[in-house]
Amino acid sequence: MLSIFKTSARINPNIISMRYSNLFGKTSKSVQADADSANAKLLTQGGFVAKQMAGVYNYLPLGLRVLNKIQNIIREEMNAIGGNEVLMPAMTQKASYAQTGRDKMDVLFHLQGRDESELVLNPTHEEVVTPLAQKYVFSYRDLPVAVYQIQNKFRNEPRAKSGLLRGREFNMKDMYSFHVSKADVDEYYEKVKEAYFKVYERLGIGDITVLTYASGGVFSKYSHEFQTFAEVGEDTIFYCEKCCVAVNKEIIGEQKNACPECGNKKLDERQAIEVGNIFKLGDKFSKPFGFVFKDSDGQDKTVEMGCYGMGPSRLMGALVEVFHDDRGIIWPKSVAPYNVHLVSLGADDNVKQEAEKLYEKLTAKCVEVLWDDRDASAGAKLADADLIGIPLRLVISKKTLAEDSVEVKERDKQKAELYKFSSLFRTILQ
Ligand code: ATP
Ligand code: MG
Repeated sequence: MLSIFKTSARINPNIISMRYSNLFGKTSKSVQADADSANAKLLTQGGFVAKQMAGVYNYLPLGLRVLNKIQNIIREEMNAIGGNEVLMPAMTQKASYAQTGRDKMDVLFHLQGRDESELVLNPTHEEVVTPLAQKYVFSYRDLPVAVYQIQNKFRNEPRAKSGLLRGREFNMKDMYSFHVSKADVDEYYEKVKEAYFKVYERLGIGDITVLTYASGGVFSKYSHEFQTFAEVGEDTIFYCEKCCVAVNKEIIGEQKNACPECGNKKLDERQAIEVGNIFKLGDKFSKPFGFVFKDSDGQDKTVEMGCYGMGPSRLMGALVEVFHDDRGIIWPKSVAPYNVHLVSLGADDNVKQEAEKLYEKLTAKCVEVLWDDRDASAGAKLADADLIGIPLRLVISKKTLAEDSVEVKERDKQKAELYKFSSLFRTILQ
């Protein structure tokens, strides 16, 4: 019999939902001694990450779920503009960097192979992706093409700080595109800009993230950054309210202190976090590797490139900076580790049974539930729910059951409401 393997039919319910008592990595009240930012403090206290050393973090199950969701949103939007996902190696021969003259970069981490060969941990992947694309692109018919990966980068940053915002090992989505002409790069570059804004909108920061003009290097007047307003941000930008764009302080002088789009000189100075950065590379990398293609006129021409970076781990930190209060994190629905935080209160058997029924029923509907099934006090459980920051909290207790109800509270609202079991499903599954 001919049959195909249907993946979705085999999803393990434990992947969707989780009992808190089974979860590896719990909340802790003690603040990490050197937490210098809201994201470092709340992500550590909430059991999302555990610091290894300066700028290097372990992702615990809760944190990994958030990171995965951010990555998947980015993945969907890169796929939608024709990006091909690949995975390149974390380490590379140093000789590749000598070829482009970047082997002296101060952010490089150096390694030694057994055969005395010199290796580096990639801080970015132009030196890997360019010769890789060269293996598969020969003629204008093979172009344009865009490849991307979501992978950890290594940079010996002079100052690792602010939790996930500036790491020495951090996660990046890096895409590279290859074209027959500058005009073709220009066209794709605009598509990437739009895709980036789709990502930020889906992450709930679309209205506080602005396209920012930054220095372009040799190949174009500007590059573009995507900057999210936040006090903790390292970048100072000058924002034009009329055009909704900004200029990075690093080039504001060059720009004669005016908006590059409308010339407005009344710009608003803000602190911001750089959550993405896109560049036109020209032949900066294709030339040293001799990356040419045969054009339709039979001539060999040098490939034109663009590169497009975005930081999922920095975004995770940025979301916490933007969305928190004095009790904890307030995750956007699209990336919350679970959809629902179910809390059963008291040691009553009936309460536990009803909570379990609800847990299973929601899970069967593909609602991701974190069920706090511990024998802890109401105060501790509710404080943990606020700290962890899942958007919807459901509480079952003897009191709510007496009314055949569940208490429902949204993390970003003050008021809790009682819902009958029957109407609960209609409401939250709509
Ligand atoms: P920055 O100006 O913040 O040092 P960059 O301009 O060097 O960053 P790129 O090389 O363009 O950054 O990297 C692409 C994206 O990766 C950045 O927009 C940012 O979101 C993320 N990123 C860069 N460096 C780090 C880091 N040290 N820790 C976490 N994320 C980072
Ligand atoms: Mg930058």
